[in-house]
Formats: sequence, structure tokens, C-alpha cells
Amino acid sequence: MVQPIRWYHSETAKPRGTELHINLSFLGGARNVTGSRYLLEANDVRLLVDCGLYQEREFRARNWDPLPIAHRTLDAVLLTHAHLDHCGLLPKLVRDGFRGPIYATAATCEIARIMLADSARLQQEDAEFKRRRHQRERRKGSFPEVPLYTVEDAEACFPLFSPVRYGESTRIGDGIEATFYDAGHVLGSSMIKVAVSRNGEKRTVLFSGDVGRQDKPILRDPTLFSEADYVLVESTYGDRLHQDSADMGDSLAEIVTSTRKAGGNVVVPSFALERAQEVLYYLNELLVENRVPRLLVFLDSPMAVSITEIFERHPELFDEEMTTLVGRNKSPFDFPGLKMVETVDESKAINQVQGTIVIIAGSGMCTGGRIKHHLVTNISRPESTILFVGYQASGTLGRHIVNGAKKIRILGQQHAVKARIAQIDGLSAHADRDELLRWLSGLRKAPRHVFVTHGEEEAAESFGEFLRESTGWDVSVPGYGEEALLE
Ligand SMILES: [Zn+2]
Repeated sequence: MVQPIRWYHSETAKPRGTELHINLSFLGGARNVTGSRYLLEANDVRLLVDCGLYQEREFRARNWDPLPIAHRTLDAVLLTHAHLDHCGLLPKLVRDGFRGPIYATAATCEIARIMLADSARLQQEDAEFKRRRHQRERRKGSFPEVPLYTVEDAEACFPLFSPVRYGESTRIGDGIEATFYDAGHVLGSSMIKVAVSRNGEKRTVLFSGDVGRQDKPILRDPTLFSEADYVLVESTYGDRLHQDSADMGDSLAEIVTSTRKAGGNVVVPSFALERAQEVLYYLNELLVENRVPRLLVFLDSPMAVSITEIFERHPELFDEEMTTLVGRNKSPFDFPGLKMVETVDESKAINQVQGTIVIIAGSGMCTGGRIKHHLVTNISRPESTILFVGYQASGTLGRHIVNGAKKIRILGQQHAVKARIAQIDGLSAHADRDELLRWLSGLRKAPRHVFVTHGEEEAAESFGEFLRESTGWDVSVPGYGEEALLE
């Protein structure tokens, strides 16, 4: 029988007693995409699933909101994966007093270290930039001019990281266990099932994290579940269907071949985690199959290089095809012509290389990083191609270029856009509407309730409606700060 969900606010008295109750609070990723953070309270244990940074401009002020509970009363954090919208508020949590374990897979712990240190550096630079600008303009901004957290705050999280393995249960507290499963989203990403037991009763709450896609390169497919009492499911692309990514190789082959014929370079703005490694995977495949001529490929991003090394350290996370490739010495991270670029001098030297080369650099939306220098060198050359392989948020330099701007400003200078601008879709790391439904369809019986989370309001509502119609299940779309009592 499906129990009704009772909604109430913190000021209402919470029921107590010997019965099994789970209190769930939606502190982020609730009618918005970023800031994933869910507080689960049961059996006098309190745990957070994810502790993400709000990245949408309209919600960023929430990063400064205090946690609704005292930090020292929080027992543990369970981390689904290393994207900042899932882990980026950890340094603040630890600075504010949290001292418990942060459970995540080993790969997630390793990648999160890199992401958090980088995020802290950006927070510090941002705060300093704002402080100077406000001083110059003799005004005060709406945000404090202190960084949300510092590199030291980020480093203070590292000793708390407690690696877990897929499929093994971890005891969090009295009658509370958590088990991590492969989510197929990025390396080390997890779906987490929390089991709560009390007086012979047991309930499970399944947190989808970010749901990956089937048949993606390198990673295994997302885990399917046959049962769960309550489910939190993400809905980033809950109102959309992805383009088929089957022709990724064909598109890339055409772009590389024609750019080489024209005598230009292929410049690929890319995220450091997953997308950069996927592009290498496809390039390697084309080289192995002799579909593109041999050429130099530069991965010009210290962060992407470090993350690629983490991939190489965790072959146990690869899918079958990737395992076979590596076994045959055909690893996409070690093919002839691939150069991992770390220092600034090495990066500058790329400009001197003659002939067509492929340059993969960050940031993925051209908002910073070394990609800007490569754009300066290539964007006014009609023989070069700028190849976009990821989502370009509105207002970013990447979006301007994709939208067909004739002139753009990079590093303080105007540049005419003459290069070919190409875009390959279908590389999303998130399941679309039908893939989300397929993931949920593994459940043999209706969950007591499904919460649609981690999607923009429209996407979340639309997926909630779609799910209700397709399954007849009890579904709701919780908002920021709302709580639900699960029985
Ligand atoms: Zn993610």
C-alpha cells in the first residue's frame, strides 16, 4: 500500500516514538538543477546525500544560507559524484564544523579533491576581483566580498573522505546502512540506496544521483534496481530526448579530415571530467580504425590531465569495450601522437607546431582557462574549426560563438570569427526523459513515492507528469526547504 506523504514545515512538531520514520529535507536540487543536497533523518541519525554548490546565478545566494541543523549533529555525508553541483559546498560544511566521514567511491574522492581545490581558487579570485571593483566603484555588492571558502577549507575536507566500493553496505548508524551502485554518469559516480530499519520494519530510499546513459564510452551502464520504497530521481533532461550519438565518430572523422585538408587546427573546448576523456576515446577509435590520418592531439588542461590519470588508475570502473581496448594496448589515453600538456610553456609551444593538430582545452564554455589562448590563435583562421562538444550556457563566450557572433572579445581584444564553428550533440552525460523512465522501469512494484529532483522547474514538473501518466505512481516535485515524512 502506498502511504501518503505528509508535508510539513520545520515549525510543526515532528512525530516521535518507536515507529519507523524517515524525515527528508530538500536543501537543493529541488526545482532547480544545481546545489544537490538532501538531509535524511532517521533513528537519531542525520546524514546528507550530496552537498552541492548552487551555480545558477539566481540561486547562488543560497550557498551562503546556514544549514537548518547544527553541523556537529550531522553524522555523515554520502557523495554521489565529484561534479561541483554535488560536492562543491563540502568545504563550507567542514569549515562550519562538520567532522564526520564523507563516503564516496575512491575515484570520486580523488576527482573531488581536484574539483574542490580548483573551485576554492576560483572563489578566492572572484572575491578578490569583486573587492577591487567595488572599491574602485565605491559601492557594495549583494554578496560578501569574502570567498565562500578557501583552498585551506577545501583541503580540510580531504582527510574526511572515506572510500567505499560499489555493492558493499556501509553502516552509517543504528539501523542505517548505505550502499553505492554505479550510476554510469562520470567516473566513480554512484546511485545510493539507504536502508533504514527499526523494530523489525525496514524502508529503503534510493537516491539516483545523476543518471548516466547506456552505451556510453568508457563507463558501464547505470545500475537498474528491482525495488525501493522511496526514490529521488534527477530530471535535468526530464522534458527532452537526446539526439542519437551513434554518428559521433562519423561527425568527428569528417571534421578532422576536412580541417586537415584546409590546413587548419581543430580546437575543442571541453570540460575536464568525462567529456575530455570521451573525445580522446572517439579520436583513438578513429585512429585505430584508420578513419583519420595520424596527427598530434594535445590535451592542454592540467585539470583534465590529472583527471585522466585518475581514469588510468581505476580500470576496474571501465566497461567491457574499454577494458578490451586497454588490454590490447590501445588505450585512448595513450595513443601515438597524444600529448598531455601541463606547464604554461608547453602550452605556448603548441602555437609553433606546423600542420593540422587537435587541441582539447578547458574551460568547456570558454569562460576561462587555456582555451582562450587557442581561440585567439585560431578563431580568425577560416581553415581552422572550433568544435563544441558540450552544453553552452547562456551568457558564456562559448554560447556567443555557437550563436554565430561575427566578432567576439577574448582577453580584452576583439577578434573576427572566421573559423568554421561546429557542434556535436548527443554527448550528454545525463539520461533523457525516456532513459529516466527506462531506469525507473526496473522497479518491479510501485515505490511508495517518487520525488522528482535536480531539474529546472519546467523539466521537473514535466517529467513528474510524464511519470505519473506512464506508471500511475505517486509522484511529487519538492521545492527548496520542503520536508517530507516517510513512513
Ligand atoms: Zn553530474
